[in-house]
Amino acid sequence: MPDAVTRLNAALAALALLAACEPASNGQPGDLLFTNARLIDGSGTPSRVADVRVRGDRIWEIGNLTVGEAETEVDATGFVLAPGFIDTHSHHDRGLRRMGDALAAVSQSITTIIAGQDGGSPLPLADFYAELEATPVAVNIAAYAGHNSLRSSVMGEDFRREATPAEVDEMRTLLRRELDAGALGLSTGLEYDPGIYSATTEVVALAREAAAVGGRYISHMRSEDRAFFDALAELLHIGREVGIPVQVSHMKLAMKSLWGRADEVLALLDSARAEGIDVTADVYPYEFWQSTMTVLFPDRDFRREAATFALEELAPPEGMIIAAFEPEPSYVGMTLAEVAERRGKDAVTVYLELIAEADAIDGRESIIARSMTTADIASFLSWPFTNVSSDGSLAGRHPRGYGAFTRVLAQHVRVRGDLSLETAVRKMTSLAAENTGLTGRGTITEGAFADIVLFDPATVSDRATPEEPNLPSVGIVGVWVNGERVYTDAGTTGNRPGRILRRGGG
Ligand SMILES: [Zn+2]
Repeated sequence: MPDAVTRLNAALAALALLAACEPASNGQPGDLLFTNARLIDGSGTPSRVADVRVRGDRIWEIGNLTVGEAETEVDATGFVLAPGFIDTHSHHDRGLRRMGDALAAVSQSITTIIAGQDGGSPLPLADFYAELEATPVAVNIAAYAGHNSLRSSVMGEDFRREATPAEVDEMRTLLRRELDAGALGLSTGLEYDPGIYSATTEVVALAREAAAVGGRYISHMRSEDRAFFDALAELLHIGREVGIPVQVSHMKLAMKSLWGRADEVLALLDSARAEGIDVTADVYPYEFWQSTMTVLFPDRDFRREAATFALEELAPPEGMIIAAFEPEPSYVGMTLAEVAERRGKDAVTVYLELIAEADAIDGRESIIARSMTTADIASFLSWPFTNVSSDGSLAGRHPRGYGAFTRVLAQHVRVRGDLSLETAVRKMTSLAAENTGLTGRGTITEGAFADIVLFDPATVSDRATPEEPNLPSVGIVGVWVNGERVYTDAGTTGNRPGRILRRGGG
């Protein structure tokens, strides 16, 4: 015989069932409802048609939803709705407070930038974060703590040597402070000064500090050409020795004699993973890189022999574009071959002259050089543990600052078919979040932060080129950060909803 309690329970169950069967709640004032979208949720699973409701800064519900009178409807018919892209190797933080709308980033659907790359980070990070929290920008920002910045602050100008144990201890103390401020982990730029002079043991000691708090290690490796395989071995050694996740920054084979060996590299990475090393990588989709003129001299011996090798094997003069040159700004945009012709000398001589002239005034210099192949890029991109990055900046000379993500969608998805659209989006979102330890972003799921992009899969494309590096992409319909719209196909909106993302958070 059913007693009162049982009857009450039955009544409550019926009520709950009724609530569950009720058509989804109507929107509230301020809600945003995307209707009829082709939803690619970031997980890599096939797309599906769905409505997505955003309330405040979160994805509120997903399904077949009814438009409420009080909410704003965004008709997404024919468009892909995906999580905002996470750029795991970005230099878009430079000048960001001046260019807070971050047009270069948001116009290619990047909603989170990860700074502090190549061993360089703002010190102390806490001050950088405080300024950005006082005056927010359009995108979310996370950062690594940079080894070169720590090393400079401890060793100053006396950096052309290995650090003493006392100096390494000092760097560890500084790194701990940065990790406490929320740094994702340690980044190195071992091809650059002053990190190029560090011993592997120094990097291991610092990586241990990062590992102790659940941080990660990301590296512009000691070499991307001559000593690529040694550099990769060093990165894997750090992962094995310290037990820290390790990521290869902008993985590339930037030397003629290495071209075509991407599969060999990936076999090495796969066996490292099988051994238990959590190794991942990021890649940008261009055959040319941007760096300093001196980066091609690992021994810092600026002599004819090394310069000749660099121009023959690594970066031919016809493909080397001057991106910055403080002693003679009129060279910007010219190739090294053109500058050599103007000076009436051979390219090797002129290359060494330019390096000496920049060094003499401690002037800024930078080059864009063509030294990768699309086939290798496609192989690296297709590796299941590679996410997409830009390595770009807000107003740089390299088109990746404006076009890296949309270029993957156009070239590697639509034109070449290297990746399905779902896989490409995963590599720009949830995998990027996993590879950097960010949570709560990178997927369209109920409760996730509402970083959202809407694009036309048939037309989305980069337009930026080395000649016109600051052209926004096409096919991006809208971009939302924490539920607020920052970009429409007419441009930026002026909203600045970006947040600081600290390690372990979202
Ligand atoms: Zn780099």
